Amino acid sequence: MRFSSTLALLLASPLLALAQYSCDPNVCKLPDCACATTTPPGGLDPAQVPQFVVFTADDAIQSYTIDAVNQFLAQRKNPNGCKPKMTYFASLTYTNYSLITDWYVAGNEIADHTITHMGSPTKEEVNGNLIALNALAGIPLSALKGFRAPLLDFKAETLQILHKSQFLYDSSASASVPVTDPNTNAYWPYTLDNGIANNCDTPGLCNGEPKLPGLWEIPMYAFFDNRGVVGPHLMDPWLRPSFLALRDSANGNNAPSDAATLAFMQKTFTDHYNGKRQPIGLYTHPIHVSLSYPGTTAKKSTIDMINSFLDWAQNHDNVWIVSNEQLLDWVRNPAPASQMSSLASFSCPAPTYDASAKICNGVPTSEDGTLARCGFSDFPFFTCYGCPTAVPTVDDPNPAQSAQTRFRVPANCSTTYWDPVEGKCLCNSPSCAFTDVARPIGPNDASYQGGGIGGDFKLLSDGSSTGGGSGSGYAPFNGAQRVQDAVVLWPILLVFLAAAVFGAVAV
Ligand SMILES: [Zn+2]
Repeated sequence: MRFSSTLALLLASPLLALAQYSCDPNVCKLPDCACATTTPPGGLDPAQVPQFVVFTADDAIQSYTIDAVNQFLAQRKNPNGCKPKMTYFASLTYTNYSLITDWYVAGNEIADHTITHMGSPTKEEVNGNLIALNALAGIPLSALKGFRAPLLDFKAETLQILHKSQFLYDSSASASVPVTDPNTNAYWPYTLDNGIANNCDTPGLCNGEPKLPGLWEIPMYAFFDNRGVVGPHLMDPWLRPSFLALRDSANGNNAPSDAATLAFMQKTFTDHYNGKRQPIGLYTHPIHVSLSYPGTTAKKSTIDMINSFLDWAQNHDNVWIVSNEQLLDWVRNPAPASQMSSLASFSCPAPTYDASAKICNGVPTSEDGTLARCGFSDFPFFTCYGCPTAVPTVDDPNPAQSAQTRFRVPANCSTTYWDPVEGKCLCNSPSCAFTDVARPIGPNDASYQGGGIGGDFKLLSDGSSTGGGSGSGYAPFNGAQRVQDAVVLWPILLVFLAAAVFGAVAV
């Protein structure tokens, strides 16, 4: 997270921001417009509103991080008997693509956290993440709805990129004032039709800007220790990063204390539950609570504490552990807690599939033999969709396959039914019919709809090209030369670097 920003938030005046935010609820109406407000959507009485506990994870997806999330969610059920879903904001360096496929097919939400974990990212970092997740993890473009800025470092331009690329929501802003404070900025998720109302310390945000109709902001709701507004804990509230005094363990003490953390998490939850039921969030970096990660410093006592918190929270009536996607589905179509069990977003239909088919659905017998190990020296990964000749980069998020061995999920077949070896859709009934969306995320904002085999920009189903105008080759986003061309530059660059190093030593 971006600590200086958090500090500045504490100093910013929520009153000032609120005074300059204006939104007419008679004009701005659900499901596609919502004003920033602390009162629940749909005019519901707080007592009728489900208490949502949003669970998110950020950064690379590996077996260690999936293990970590499973410690908290795998054994749980929501009030309707379904396992909780969560949102994974994936960055791609050190990510294992086949695990993303499995995690998505299991019903979780995959969202964008840039390719290389870049704060205030470029358009290419944001959109390239979508293209690589679609190509190598088989995630439909329509399923990639959300974004969180690495380091929570975002600007008005970042939100404008999201709007242009047809994201449904951002979740990078902080609700940094307790719900018990009259000046709280813990708004229910809202659209940016009238600008943003959080993070007003950042130039270009608030005072009605930026106006981005239909783009939702899902604020990140902080926990607060007994120092109140000056003791916020936004992400990983159980950690004590040595580089940060601000969120330096509970209540300003120097050492982290699981007991004190549990106490303030329960206090904040109770304030939400007894108040207007704004969601609360466990925003995690799972690598820090993974016991299977080599060299881990995670403590079993901390993991037990987090589970104790969730056990305790789930003992309250109408508490639901959800993904951002589920939360937003409910906010856009709010229903009383008594009707939750009938809502499709929260159901868990058993997937139907041909047990003999070789498809990438997370079921070991189905997936067996479909995965390829891509032996890149930095971080080998697995994918169902063919190893690329190079690791996806900002310039080339969808490199050619080393051999044409797999077909990528096309726009007219869902991940669960796609046979990447034969290149055919195993769905034969209207009940599993699926149509993905094209999004303007290709080079030069061209439309992109997935499928293909990589290495060239997508041809549309009618045969026309939407490429960046460079024929069959993938047009690099930023106009840089293609990888093979760049190779010849290396000797020149090395000579330059050697000269620089030599020069430095000589001085
Ligand atoms: Zn991150």
